[in-house]
Amino acid sequence: MGHDSIVPGTLKTCPTMNRSQAEGKAALPCWIFGISTFMTSIKSTTCRCKGACDSRRCACLKNGKGCESGCRCQGCQNPLNGVDVSKLSACAVQNIRRLKALTEDELNTLVELPCGHSKVPLRELTGDYHCSGCNEAYWYSFCWNGVAQDSCSWHCEVCGQCRDWREWHCDDCNRCTYGVSLPCQNCERRNDRMMW
Ligand SMILES: [Zn+2]
Ligand SMILES: [Zn+2]
Ligand SMILES: [Zn+2]
Ligand SMILES: [Zn+2]
Ligand SMILES: [Zn+2]
Ligand SMILES: [Zn+2]
Repeated sequence: MGHDSIVPGTLKTCPTMNRSQAEGKAALPCWIFGISTFMTSIKSTTCRCKGACDSRRCACLKNGKGCESGCRCQGCQNPLNGVDVSKLSACAVQNIRRLKALTEDELNTLVELPCGHSKVPLRELTGDYHCSGCNEAYWYSFCWNGVAQDSCSWHCEVCGQCRDWREWHCDDCNRCTYGVSLPCQNCERRNDRMMW
């Protein structure tokens, strides 16, 4: 992982949070940070849709999961219904429509890993794939249309975009940003404008 250098308390958001959440693992380091958005997102297990749950307004879809019996939706079209999201990368979950649109042939297409150690069927890259040659984990980025190396990339579920490891999501301005300062560079600029 490329995020080990984060000192607790310096960042409000742990970039690994969204991935761990999507993988269904407990994001232990993030609990220490006391991230409230993370806690609320796993508490709400049903949506309040009256429609078909096919937009991002659906709490279930937004949380990267299918609808459950407790949901009151009718004619539910949640594309994550019946999908085992624990096997998928955060990027694949958020691009589930594109993933589902892939044909068997496309899923069997061999994709070369960035390290050059092997070619892997695309279906293996919809979740983490560990290369035996270098022990790196890779997954297919639907945002970038290419293979992403797990240690230097992640998918921001708030922005719905794959990001470089140097970027992190700032809760204050609700955007991904570079840099190590708090407030983030975007916030700083905003604050500058407000000051007189
Ligand atoms: Zn819904
Ligand atoms: Zn639902
Ligand atoms: Zn639904
Ligand atoms: Zn390799
Ligand atoms: Zn992505
Ligand atoms: Zn973001």
